[in-house]
Amino acid sequence: MATELHETIVMAKQERHKNLFLNYRNLNNFPVELLKDEGLQFLERLYMKRNLLTTLPDNLAQKLPNLIELYLHSNNIVIIPEAIGNLARLQSLDLSNNALQVLCPEVGRLRSLRHLRLSNNQLKCLPPEIGDLHELETLDVSMNQLMSLPDRLHRCLSLQNLSADHNLLSHVPRHLCWLHRLNQLSMAANRLTFLPLDLGRSRELQFVFVDNNLDLKGLPSYLYNKVIGCSGCGVLPQVQAGEPGNFLGEALSQALVGLPAEVKVVASETDSVVPLEELAMRTLHRLYHHHHHHQQQHHHHRHHTDVNLLPPIALPKSLLDLLQFPLGHCHRCSQAMFTIIYPKLFPLRHTALAGVHRRATVSFVAYCCSNRCLRTFNLQG
Ligand SMILES: [Zn+2]
Repeated sequence: MATELHETIVMAKQERHKNLFLNYRNLNNFPVELLKDEGLQFLERLYMKRNLLTTLPDNLAQKLPNLIELYLHSNNIVIIPEAIGNLARLQSLDLSNNALQVLCPEVGRLRSLRHLRLSNNQLKCLPPEIGDLHELETLDVSMNQLMSLPDRLHRCLSLQNLSADHNLLSHVPRHLCWLHRLNQLSMAANRLTFLPLDLGRSRELQFVFVDNNLDLKGLPSYLYNKVIGCSGCGVLPQVQAGEPGNFLGEALSQALVGLPAEVKVVASETDSVVPLEELAMRTLHRLYHHHHHHQQQHHHHRHHTDVNLLPPIALPKSLLDLLQFPLGHCHRCSQAMFTIIYPKLFPLRHTALAGVHRRATVSFVAYCCSNRCLRTFNLQG
């Protein structure tokens, strides 16, 4: 077995192979032959599925400097070294089905990375540095123990597919609504109680799967025309049809739709006055937005000038953050909203989608900016 491995690697070296397949080899350690002398300078793709590796060597980037794809599915990797960040050309890293408990921040230095697969590990959090991966198109963190996703993920402007099924997520950062290339978002089987108000506002986002989030009772109305999965949402687990508890269950599920903590006022059709703080925020936002737009057109220096663009007023950090990333935009007129919402519920059973999602008792919620918008909003419109 060892001789066979040796020969495979020697041949790859001599013939300057770009791909090397070392799947199913029972390897406990990274083969030293790969790291000897000058290494394999021509190697671009290394496949090592189903071995018994527990970590990676520190000099990987030095010996395999042209690595584009590293496939380590189904090993026993507990930790990856900080030196992973030196794989400057790496575009695809698959560490699915390993034993990772932490992910080092140096992953954020993999600036060419386009696909990062980390499903079925034991991650409890992700380093915010993931937000530095500006080329990242696919991120799969399904089947971990994540309680939250980093807000900075919204900087991954190339992200198209985000999967975080089977974690412990209680919310989706509203910042992710700014990912304008995101096409598919999958967060089934988590602990979501609400979704960001703007989710689905981006035309690019077409697939949203949030099945089996029992306490999720409201879907933003922007999702109405998308492909959605919400089976097992808003369902009370113990209550079954026909049982005496059913009536109570239904009443409870209708009671309240979860809301983000930033929502300070839930207004209704009879509230005609918008609070002063909200008016101030809307005004500041218009000012900021105007400036921002102006600057972008003339300088294209978005990231460098962000701070200078803010009005010269001292605001608490939380308000500055809100100003940059509003709570949402009115589903009727697109007005930015910061502290107050006028929600309008459209129970699933009253919509055309009722037959498709039978195991869900959710409502579509239109979040509006005023009682006027609330009155005139219509789901099909
Ligand atoms: Zn409005």
